[in-house]
Amino acid sequence: MPELPEVEIARRHLVHWLDGRRVVKADADDTRIFRGARWKDFASLRGRLLSLERRGKYLLFSFEEDRGLLAHLGMSGRFVRRSPDATVPYSRARFHLDSEEVIHFADARMLGRMETCPASGLHALAPIQALGFDPLADGLDVARLRDAVGDSKQELKVALMDQGRVAGLGNIHAAEALFRAGLHPSRPPGSLTDAEWKRLARGVRVALDFGLREQQAEEEVRYLKEGGRNGFLVYGRAGTPCVRCGTTVESVTQGGRTTHFCPSCQPSGPAPESRGRRDARIARRR
Ligand SMILES: [Zn+2]
Repeated sequence: MPELPEVEIARRHLVHWLDGRRVVKADADDTRIFRGARWKDFASLRGRLLSLERRGKYLLFSFEEDRGLLAHLGMSGRFVRRSPDATVPYSRARFHLDSEEVIHFADARMLGRMETCPASGLHALAPIQALGFDPLADGLDVARLRDAVGDSKQELKVALMDQGRVAGLGNIHAAEALFRAGLHPSRPPGSLTDAEWKRLARGVRVALDFGLREQQAEEEVRYLKEGGRNGFLVYGRAGTPCVRCGTTVESVTQGGRTTHFCPSCQPSGPAPESRGRRDARIARRR
């Protein structure tokens, strides 16, 4: 399911597809992706795309004449570009371009979300106001991460997935970041040492960079649950040997989600400094 890297790649594709083009018509079906927003307003979107911003897992479209759209891919949503006569399964909303191509928003499970509003009002929408810092758009450093997460009373992985603290991390990349940092997912954020915050900031950065690299060559984002290759270090690998140390990867439920981790690479308490340095060296090699 889409997290920050997948949404960022979707953004880059859309910018590329809409570059130099005009939306000549937009139309949508009356589905629950509009969640009470007026679905008929989707048809008001037209003209050139002036900007497309990503905040966390949200996309903020600004078209000419202050026409705006907020979009969230949910669990299975994706934008695809097709010729005008193509049939797209689960197409819920469409941009028709002056090139005659059509950009569809396809969403089988309809957990995605769309809402039109004046482009100038996009940032004031409640879901955007509620977001914490965005590690890619705002930049990620140790102080920013510690400020956002350090006072949480939740378990570390749950705190990392809290969109009000760090926008865009989900189950996959939070697990990957913790593995790369050698930190147990259940650690209380307040217990992390300076060295561990540094490793965590680096782990988040490297996990997101990896996600971006994995997806960027594809014309369309493919989600792991749909049979994509699992290139992750620990996510989805419970019961198999850890790629680093061979210990069996375990799973635990946190905040209603399954977390995968290596009990040996991610010890439950603060690591002695010597071990911390060793883990950091291992992390650097990968
Ligand atoms: Zn391991």
